[in-house]
Amino acid sequence: MSKYDLIIRNGMVVTNKAVEKLDIAVVDGSIVEVAPEISGLSKEEIDAKGKYILPGGYDCHVHFNEPGRTNWESLLTGTSSLAAGGMTSFTDMPLNSTPVTTNGKNFDLKLEAAKKNSLVDYSFWGGLTPNNLEDLEELAERGVVGFKAFTCFSGLEEFEGADDWTLYRGMEIAAKLGLPVSVHAENRDITNKLTEKFIKEGKTSPRDFLNSRPEISEVEAIQRVILFAEETKCKLHIAHVSTAKGVQLVVEARKKGIDVSCETVSQYLTFTEDDLDGLGPIGKCCPPLRAKDTKEKLWEHIVAGNVDAVCSDHSPAPFELKKDSNFFKVWGGISGCQSTMNVMLTEGYHNRGLSLVDISKLLSLNPAKRFGIKNKGEIKVGYDADMVLVDLNERFILKADELFYMHKVSPLVGLEFKGKIVRTILRGKTIFQDGKIVSEPIGKFLRP
Ligand SMILES: [Zn+2]
Repeated sequence: MSKYDLIIRNGMVVTNKAVEKLDIAVVDGSIVEVAPEISGLSKEEIDAKGKYILPGGYDCHVHFNEPGRTNWESLLTGTSSLAAGGMTSFTDMPLNSTPVTTNGKNFDLKLEAAKKNSLVDYSFWGGLTPNNLEDLEELAERGVVGFKAFTCFSGLEEFEGADDWTLYRGMEIAAKLGLPVSVHAENRDITNKLTEKFIKEGKTSPRDFLNSRPEISEVEAIQRVILFAEETKCKLHIAHVSTAKGVQLVVEARKKGIDVSCETVSQYLTFTEDDLDGLGPIGKCCPPLRAKDTKEKLWEHIVAGNVDAVCSDHSPAPFELKKDSNFFKVWGGISGCQSTMNVMLTEGYHNRGLSLVDISKLLSLNPAKRFGIKNKGEIKVGYDADMVLVDLNERFILKADELFYMHKVSPLVGLEFKGKIVRTILRGKTIFQDGKIVSEPIGKFLRP
């Protein structure tokens, strides 16, 4: 009789303290032993000699489009992309699937779809909009990790941005429910008025779009929602911070004892506004790409430990929606969820000396802790056996046909990366290996 289901031998294991050569044993999807040498029979053995083993990543911010806009990105294509990128769990945003996740009934539709089609473990954000304050409790009962609100136009008519009253009241309710509110923080008036003005003047180039969403619009909105968090005692999470000043506000708020965390997104760590002309529509996102100086300061914040999580904000759409000559009318959103770990290994580990321990905290442990996802994010006894085997020194140029996205376009195509994901394991089962998905959808629902 085998004592174990799986033993991974000889790998360099990234724990939350160090990188060490260790064996890992798994029973029933959980890690049961981590030690320099594990003896005993196992049904399956993997020799990870020469490979690094990181905890499977947790992408806390993606926009998959099932149900309702499954032709933009289905759960199967989206989660296959995550698996290929070393990510073993995610939290889906309440938009751009349809109906939007703003009440229990709509939540149930999304949960049903994920049960059938998700290759990795899944969880959900509920929406916080002017129309659903009375539905937040029901969403909490269903098991959302928290509530997502926009301080500006969301891009979708059916998901209204939150006015100050909605935010304030919604955060009071969320505080009572013990759940965080995640905010897309850009000032609505500044972004709307500049957009109107530029369009009226016929200024509709990528550069005009950048100028319509200046740093101050993000910084002001972050400051305002931090004030609401202080007053309501609501846990606050700032989504996709694109400015160093925004992170600085979070740092200062924490010093005052306010419960606030923040994430940034791999695109702000890879590209700058100067890249947008060359990228065109596939590089459009909100908040937009920033100046080179801002990008480097964001990295400094990451190295200093001031950013809690790095995620993808994967936001795909059919290419037909990205063709307008008026850049303001081009559908925004970047596809990148297959490459988050590659960006962190290349730009973080190899180019800036960020440790693998810190990278695994940013990609796995910190967001899992923040959003109450239990037994995820660490290679540790008792935790889910979610792991990714990486060839740390292999270089490759990302090609479109290697993407698992429904629409194989991404600004990251053509970039050279160092550090290749060779195998992804979810709860002890290999789901991705050597460029191929090798499992049925076996994802499970995660709730705080
Ligand atoms: Zn988003």
